[in-house]
Amino acid sequence: GGDGRVGTGAARSDAGAKKRTVDHRARACELRPQREQLPVFSARSAIIREVRRHPTVVIVGETGSGKTTQIPQYLLESGFTRHGETAIAVTQPRRVAATSVAKRVAEEVGTSLGARVGYTIRFDDCSSDKTQLRFCTDGLLLREILSDPLLRRYSVVILDEAHERTLRTDILLGMLRDIQRRRQVLAAASGGGGGGPEEHGSQQPGAGAHTRFGDEDGGAQGDAVAAGVGELKIIVMSATLDADRFSEYFGGAPVLYVAGRQFPVTTYYTVTPQADYLDAAHLSVLQIHTETPSTSGDILVFLAGQEDIESVERLLGESAAHLPSAVPQLLVCPIFAALPQAQQARVFEPAPEFTRKVILATNIAETSLTIPGIRHVVDAGVHKLRGFDPRVGESLLVEPISKSSARQRAGRAGREAPGFCYRLYTEADYAQLDEDAVPEIKRCQLTMVALQLKASGVSNVLQFGFMDPPPKRALKHALLELYALEALDDKGELTGLGRWMAEFPLDPSYSKVIYASQAAGCTREVIDIVSLLSVDSLFYVPADKRDESNQAQLAFRSRDGDHLTYLNLLRAYLAADGDKEWCHEHFVNRRGMRHVLDVRQQLNRLCSRLSIDVSKTCGTDLDAVLRCFLAGFFHNCALLQPDGSYRSLNGSQTVHVHPGSSLFGKKVPAIFYDQLVFTNRLHARAASAADPLWIAQSSPKLYGRLASAAP
Ligand code: ADP
Ligand code: MG
Repeated sequence: GGDGRVGTGAARSDAGAKKRTVDHRARACELRPQREQLPVFSARSAIIREVRRHPTVVIVGETGSGKTTQIPQYLLESGFTRHGETAIAVTQPRRVAATSVAKRVAEEVGTSLGARVGYTIRFDDCSSDKTQLRFCTDGLLLREILSDPLLRRYSVVILDEAHERTLRTDILLGMLRDIQRRRQVLAAASGGGGGGPEEHGSQQPGAGAHTRFGDEDGGAQGDAVAAGVGELKIIVMSATLDADRFSEYFGGAPVLYVAGRQFPVTTYYTVTPQADYLDAAHLSVLQIHTETPSTSGDILVFLAGQEDIESVERLLGESAAHLPSAVPQLLVCPIFAALPQAQQARVFEPAPEFTRKVILATNIAETSLTIPGIRHVVDAGVHKLRGFDPRVGESLLVEPISKSSARQRAGRAGREAPGFCYRLYTEADYAQLDEDAVPEIKRCQLTMVALQLKASGVSNVLQFGFMDPPPKRALKHALLELYALEALDDKGELTGLGRWMAEFPLDPSYSKVIYASQAAGCTREVIDIVSLLSVDSLFYVPADKRDESNQAQLAFRSRDGDHLTYLNLLRAYLAADGDKEWCHEHFVNRRGMRHVLDVRQQLNRLCSRLSIDVSKTCGTDLDAVLRCFLAGFFHNCALLQPDGSYRSLNGSQTVHVHPGSSLFGKKVPAIFYDQLVFTNRLHARAASAADPLWIAQSSPKLYGRLASAAP
């Protein structure tokens, strides 16, 4: 039975290391037959051969075919790493995928997590010197380039989920291509081809034109690695068929297709458009649950984001209590990026007897995670998209998915047997969807990108070899923004502050705020608030208890707005020791608060490593805190207009204070905000009052003259 979690049990027991090793090995043996049944297994030798022959290989395969968990192991088993010298990195767009896949692969390899197989994600490093297979987020690998410009510690980098074309994947594509070229030159200069190693005992002679890329004898490889200039192998993995672009980008790299195994999925559409997809999702789940036997498989629901998931979770919780006793129980498991890891693991565990699992997910479950047991998919047809407009700034929008996403989602129902997909939109709506999503780099704020490129030594950001170049206008805007943040100087060169900011795994605006907090002496408060801002919903507002919830929130209200309100909330939460009852009474999202504490601890640790005194506190002078935020968010300001509305300073857009904000209905001369969210209109998320004079002084580069004229 594959359900016994021997690995986990052993890690918890205090038996000696030897027992643990044996247990790990036993578990790995147990999993071996499962591994060998995956579609990718039949392509094993072809994969190894191609990777040996070519610097870059593109691999395409259906979700669940075994790309992520198996291919890194094949390379590990075939000697593509040198113990203690080089390792294999596998990048994932999402933290959850990196950690959960690493856990699974460690089990399959038969080692404890963090030893031979590990992961490293922002703020959380579970790896060691011994780690030869490292799962990480693409953002993390990007930051490694800052300290290791040639990524010498890796012999292979696997870019997973490349079809998602996230911002960071696209930057990595460009940077890895450069690094690969530079390492080829260096490897050639040092006399070693440095390609793939031999399969045990086999001695192939160099094969014509491919000699440069592999099939060298072990000695030459060893020398090149010793000199630290071994060749870099790049593997691009994708779940969708349009892989030619990747191949072209890497000079005609071979594309390997792994045949999938897919059962038919019957798709249903709604007859009429649904006004409220949350309610529709809730009702669909109940209908599937009551009309099909629970032995016909679990239910996976795709929603836009954490807030959606929490709403549907509540709705289902209420209805589940009223199910007829003959109907099996529903076990609701949410999964989204900000969910604490312990709870994420639950989605992979089989449901207890007489219980059916309902997994509420963001597009995280579309291709990056394979959840066993799913036969019913409910697709709300939406996802959250980062958008950017220089006049509006960064925004997070709930938008229709692409056809290709809709097909991926439906596919999740047919992995183990024929399945069903219930689309909460009409067939006509489906026909209107875009074929593919636009790569993120073409529609988001590029400040972080530009800073990353600058800090990695790319002097002309506008000329960087992107696979899909972003609009020049957006790149120029990003450079200006960095200049205003003082990360770049008048000549466009990176400043000391810019280099410091690049070290931070945060949007440059936040790192600037933390920087400012040092001189202002309020680093503690600033880190608290930055952590609080990392969670979408700190409060929960049930539709039928809106007034009660609002009333309860008044206890934390600060006159100055949401930043300080959140700080009050955190203080009260800590004073109450995170008590469950207390959270319930105050409509505080306990899960969200736990995530806040997580981020806070990690930020504190990081700051301490960068020699920032995190204990500095400003006591009651909270204006200092707000002014620090303006040092990073001077571009997110709006001024009160005679008609009572707010107009953004940088784009003359009308900005509305969110009904949930502590500033709602108040009129202050100026506000600044964390983010704009577009629902039916532009809402400022996390807004606080600002003295217009502070705004004038917030960016000497932007508002220089005003500031020097001010007292
Ligand atoms: P791909 O990357 O091609 O989508 P994966 O390598 O992620 O495929 O998954 C291969 C198989 O491994 C899946 O069929 C799934 O059943 C299994 N698997 C992956 N992760 C886990 C996990 N955390 N727990 C149990 N099974 C898993
Ligand atoms: Mg995968």
